Amino acid sequence: MTAPQQRPPSVDTLARSLTSSGLPHPICVDIARDAIESGDVSSAPVLAAAFSRSLLTDVVNATGVLLHTNLGRAPLAHSQPAAAQTVEFDLSSGARGSRQTAVGQLFARLTGAEDAMVVNNNAAAVLLVLAAVAAGRDVPVSRGESVEIGGSFRVPEVMEQSGCRLVDVGTTNRTRLSDYERAVARDDTDVAMVMKVHPSNYRVEGFIEETSIAELATLDVPVMADIGSGLLDANVPWLKGAPPAWLAGEPAAVQAIADGADLITFSGDKLLGGPQAGIIAGRRDLVEECKRHPLARALRPGGLVLRSLQNTALTYLDKRAAKDIAFWRMVDRTLAELRADAERIVADLDDARVQVAQMDALPGAGSAPGITMASIGLVVEGDLLEALRSHETPVIARSRDDRTFLDLRAVDPADHPVVVAALTAALT
Ligand SMILES: *Cc1c(COP(=O)(O)O)cnc(C)c1O
Repeated sequence: MTAPQQRPPSVDTLARSLTSSGLPHPICVDIARDAIESGDVSSAPVLAAAFSRSLLTDVVNATGVLLHTNLGRAPLAHSQPAAAQTVEFDLSSGARGSRQTAVGQLFARLTGAEDAMVVNNNAAAVLLVLAAVAAGRDVPVSRGESVEIGGSFRVPEVMEQSGCRLVDVGTTNRTRLSDYERAVARDDTDVAMVMKVHPSNYRVEGFIEETSIAELATLDVPVMADIGSGLLDANVPWLKGAPPAWLAGEPAAVQAIADGADLITFSGDKLLGGPQAGIIAGRRDLVEECKRHPLARALRPGGLVLRSLQNTALTYLDKRAAKDIAFWRMVDRTLAELRADAERIVADLDDARVQVAQMDALPGAGSAPGITMASIGLVVEGDLLEALRSHETPVIARSRDDRTFLDLRAVDPADHPVVVAALTAALT
């Protein structure tokens, strides 16, 4: 015997029943319609929850990957009133100005370059430099640096898009100055500049040789270096004590310019700790060519990013980076501090399934591949990833062998109550 057919509720009634999801009414109507069409009215609250989860939301990053590309890389506090600002206005003359002036001069000062400008990200910075300085001409690149970085940033493809020709020099593991010299001197090439790319996310070991910026600067053509990570100064003067060991080998802006790079490009949201942006710094005439190129307009950042990046630059110039840039605050936390935090959380939870453990954190975003920094966190029995992700403020952790790992280095101490609440809920 089949149950008597019940009439499905109206779309409107079902949509109204979803009000507590907090989703806007038109979205609730869409979801109600989908649920009714699927023949399963009871799925509506699940669909609403799934929609809510698809929206951008704050999370606690307990993965131990400090600059997690999937979690927006460098965490950043920024707020701005709904006020007009001098994005393209020169206050001294009262005339139109350039949106590159304010932030450009600060990054020129920070890197020791003559001039600087900002675009949407580092991929855009590389594209713009190649298009503006080398379109229709040849650009020698070491075979060992013809790399893919993250999804879809591949050096040969970016070169093709910019309209310049890639000239392979050297071999995958060894490229010498003489290889570049031969490429520049050949009669059948028209070399606009040489490009050096930091192979951020991998490492070749063993019988290797690369040509330094200082050596490349002896060539007769401009040298561009994509240093990627955005470390401003290899001496890391904003931290007390010696530079952290895991930073050894990361190229830095100040040193690249001092060594003779004519142009450098780097990301704003990696080791710089600022918003997503790409910074181009170097010789004034070359930066000027980039500013004048039609692509500059398409790749330019808005006032929000410029203001945030200006704050980041001022923070470094004021020597407040260790305290006021979230990424460097994470790096600067001692193991003793992290252990005390972990012990406090364990005491709050008072559950034998949760323990303090030593861990290895990673800088992330392709910086310092294969290198870890010592950290402390919590190990919990069972795979709780899904439960932790379902918490009101989701907590993102890692799991292995039916255990869950929460690294505390990237967790703001202000979020400890969230971690405690999420774990309490996940464990019951
Ligand atoms: C990360 C990286 C890029 C891409 O930078 P985005 O800011 O993500 O566009 C390009 N080159 C290098 C060397 C990098 O490390």
